Amino acid sequence: MMGSMKISDVADDIERELVPRSQIDETINRVAAQVSKDYAGRDLLLVGVLKGAATTMVHFAEALSINVQMDYMSLSSYGSGTTSSGTVTVRQDLSTDVRGRDVLIVEDIIDSGITLAWLVDELKRRGAASVKVFALLDKPARHKIDIVPTYKGIVIPDEFVVGFGLDYAEKYRNLDSIAVLKPSVYSKETHA
Ligand code: 5GP
Ligand code: MG
Ligand code: MG
Repeated sequence: MMGSMKISDVADDIERELVPRSQIDETINRVAAQVSKDYAGRDLLLVGVLKGAATTMVHFAEALSINVQMDYMSLSSYGSGTTSSGTVTVRQDLSTDVRGRDVLIVEDIIDSGITLAWLVDELKRRGAASVKVFALLDKPARHKIDIVPTYKGIVIPDEFVVGFGLDYAEKYRNLDSIAVLKPSVYSKETHA
């Protein structure tokens, strides 16, 4: 890929690569093929959760062979730190009425599961006909809520990751694969 930001471009900050880009692409393509089959002949609305899932959303939508609609919602269950605060707030809402719609939520990662569980309930409360989930990454060891994505992505260990849409302090979102940061990156922030 020409001109993308790779591990080598931020090597000083990276402990190790956790998910290579080839595995991300394979996962997205596998799920997109399955979703294209499952929703063939239906009218599907993709709901991407900003900002983290924006990258997954674009690559996933491009890999589908069915015609879908796409909308975004910005949710916050995190402060500036790396653990969930437990309360979900809507920062920016959908512009689509989900009543009667088949909805597929596209998420970057399931950590505690609090954000996703809240969103599934909220879309059902708004009258969606069905609400399914694709999460690119999942950290089952950290779930506080028992939630299983309809379309499973990649299971990762209990580590904070960045890249492919995922940030630390709004940085590393444009890293082209998924990596674990060096502890020094966090300690720099806390002692700044
Ligand atoms: P939850 O704890 O509610 O499952 O996670 C909420 C959101 O926190 C995720 O959708 C994601 O945007 C963010 N998050 C959770 N784990 C990580 C992680 O390891 N790295 C980054 N950058 N964000 C995460
Ligand atoms: Mg997210
Ligand atoms: Mg974040």
